Amino acid sequence: MKTADPQASSSTSREALDALVARVRECRICAPELPLGPKPLIHVSQKARILIASQAPGTIAHESGKSFYDPSGKRLRGWMNLSEDDFYNTSKVAILPMGLCYPGRLPNGGDNPPRPECAPAWRDEVLSHLTSLRLILLVGSYSQNYTLGRGSVGERVREFRRYLPRYFPLPHPSWRTGVWEKRAPWFQGEVIPALREEICKALA
Ligand code: SF4
Repeated sequence: MKTADPQASSSTSREALDALVARVRECRICAPELPLGPKPLIHVSQKARILIASQAPGTIAHESGKSFYDPSGKRLRGWMNLSEDDFYNTSKVAILPMGLCYPGRLPNGGDNPPRPECAPAWRDEVLSHLTSLRLILLVGSYSQNYTLGRGSVGERVREFRRYLPRYFPLPHPSWRTGVWEKRAPWFQGEVIPALREEICKALA
């Protein structure tokens, strides 16, 4: 009887994920709705222990080709206590927004929501390849509502322990959240230390 070669099977799975990511990068499903055109941002590997399930890239991320390569990312890395090198090391951290392309601006100045076509098209298939995940950071309302059902971001963040050990709900790390943090001292006092502890466990 033949025994399975774990190395061969791992390289086949890696090739399958690489092929899927190549297909995602070619995606044009909602191209007519995207003001800057399609440019899917996806940072994944099978080895990733932590997933950042975020919203959608902003203009700086779109231009750089790197998710969270902006002030929001700086705030998120600060919360996680991770260096830029670790944050962008896909064998540690995967980043998969709910909408992979920049969705444009709202009239009030904020960004549009993630394109609704995107998660149904790609999300479950990509996640099925991320077999080493230990912790999923649900960053902002879109990934939280998609994963946990509709609910309040503030309440979920405050009650983060209910969702452990698999999920850790967080607010979107925008400048608005920087203002909100000042009125919610429990966030830095309780949530951030617990987040860092869960990250250390996931990467250990
Ligand atoms: S947002 Fe998603 S569905 Fe739309 S073009 Fe980009 S990758 Fe495709």
